Amino acid sequence: MSHYFYIMTTTFSDYLNKRNHKKFDLKAILFDMDGVLYDSMKWHAKSWKETMDEFDIPSTSEEFYQYEGMVGSHTINHLMNREKGRNASEEEVRTIYKRKTELFSKYNDGSLIPYAYDFVKRVHDEGFTCVIVTGSGQPTLIDKIESNYPGLFAHMVTAFDVKNGKPHPEPYLMGLQKAGNLNPNQAIVVENAPRGVEAAVAAGIFTIAVNTGPMPDSVLADAGANIVLPSMKALYDNWDDYRVYFTV
Ligand code: MG
Repeated sequence: MSHYFYIMTTTFSDYLNKRNHKKFDLKAILFDMDGVLYDSMKWHAKSWKETMDEFDIPSTSEEFYQYEGMVGSHTINHLMNREKGRNASEEEVRTIYKRKTELFSKYNDGSLIPYAYDFVKRVHDEGFTCVIVTGSGQPTLIDKIESNYPGLFAHMVTAFDVKNGKPHPEPYLMGLQKAGNLNPNQAIVVENAPRGVEAAVAAGIFTIAVNTGPMPDSVLADAGANIVLPSMKALYDNWDDYRVYFTV
């Protein structure tokens, strides 16, 4: 038995033991959107930074990678509290988020994460239910799903569906529900952001992190990811090895 094989076996059995499941019974794969399906995080960070500059709220482009997955109002309030010592008013939240949305729509070139389409198409054709679980309320991206991933996603959870955004488990719990009232051991999550990984782990779901951004792998491991991979290509390449554990 190779070292790699041993590590993998433990990774899967550790999850099952810890969560008191006898086995996986994989039915659905829940995908985060930004940074997993779309190479959009750099445009989000740029749009947030420029919006905050316009509203005279100090920030750095890098910090928005940490907030990825959180709903917009949380990010705004986090910065407002830090920089101004108060919450944003509803009007401020609306105005700031609207501006951020405008800038994002202007900058976003709609490019996909390499191998994201190939992976989703493959698992869809293998019979798994594919679900998007995003904190995004960005209509321009949500509209593009059907043209970039035609017929592949059965369900979608967006910022409009939940009261509590990531890192709260609600989005992923709703993903399980929409996928057919599944138990946590009947799904896996593909995430790229620490707050998203926390949400998936809090929902009790086995979580594969793909590190498509600038943060170190340790950030995703510390957030609780069961597996951390460098890319969607790595997930595509490893999938045959992983699938045997999920479908025994
Ligand atoms: Mg993401």
